[in-house]
Amino acid sequence: MDSPLDPAATTHVPSAAPAYRSAIDRVPCGYCGIAATAHELTFSEAGERVCLACASREKISGTELRVANTFIVAAYCALCAAALGLVYNPFGLMSFLAISGGTSVLLGLPREPKYRAFLGKQYLPVMVSAGLGVLGGALDAVLLLLQWLFL
Ligand SMILES: [Zn+2]
Repeated sequence: MDSPLDPAATTHVPSAAPAYRSAIDRVPCGYCGIAATAHELTFSEAGERVCLACASREKISGTELRVANTFIVAAYCALCAAALGLVYNPFGLMSFLAISGGTSVLLGLPREPKYRAFLGKQYLPVMVSAGLGVLGGALDAVLLLLQWLFL
């Protein structure tokens, strides 16, 4: 019989071929080193061949790093907005930016211990900047109010 479903028809394939093929197809993950076939691998952000688990881990840690950086940016922007608000505070916009940015950091950052771990030594300066941003934004708002009332 010459049917493709007939197991006897495949006996012409050398017995060493399957082992040879799998040795070629299996590539070590660039991070954990586990051997994986081509369809079990993807590329990392750095362009390395990595397994799907390592790619997911990298994506998650990258996202968490971005969130931690957002807290840093929000805290320092709040401080800068509060400082700028002393000389230029149109319609209380700088007060709003300083208070909202600082408050989001002060309320959001302590709730997530992993971001505190990500920030490390930067945690305290970020929290102090956010606090000063809120206080400065409130001061700017009071000064603006006094300016509107008495000038
Ligand atoms: Zn891996």
